Amino acid sequence: MVDEARPGDFNQALMELGAVVCLPRSPRCSECPLTTDCSTRGEHKTEKRAPMKSVEVAYALSVRTSEKKTAHDHAGREVLLEQRPATVSVMTGMWELPQLSEAEVPPEELRMTVRHAIMQTNYYVRVRTVFEDDIARLTVAHGERRWIPLGQAREMALTGLARKVLTRAHLLPMAPLDIIAPSRDGEIV
Ligand code: SF4
Repeated sequence: MVDEARPGDFNQALMELGAVVCLPRSPRCSECPLTTDCSTRGEHKTEKRAPMKSVEVAYALSVRTSEKKTAHDHAGREVLLEQRPATVSVMTGMWELPQLSEAEVPPEELRMTVRHAIMQTNYYVRVRTVFEDDIARLTVAHGERRWIPLGQAREMALTGLARKVLTRAHLLPMAPLDIIAPSRDGEIV
């Protein structure tokens, strides 16, 4: 069904259909443009959902001031990001914060906590500010790391969690689409 000339518009329309017409508990079938093609036109039996798992994890938030100001970021601040390697099965190639080697964070070092759901897992995330000199000691590297100007980071393929943390830390602006659209990796943001 995807329109080859305007696939982006098709995807956006499908997300809006799910948000305002084909609602999970009360689909508005009489107003739906897909009603003649839809195989259910309303409620249907669904598989029982698997119970949500809980996982605790912690990430490092490392920001430094760059010596040279870039076209991307006039304030000259950079954040340390890590690219998920090709060996992982999900969100391959996307950028995230470096993971701390310990999920526990001392209370005095805790910057924020975030709950983040992906598929059937609730991640309870602790975020700790880590200074540049402590990065090697406190984190475990999974992929390539780079210091990225904040103005450039907002344009990159960040994981939903990384974008959520950077936004809550007021390092990235809140974009209107972040509020209504699911992220590209299928996370509930
Ligand atoms: S007709 Fe089908 S797609 Fe449209 S709202 Fe009803 S269940 Fe959803």
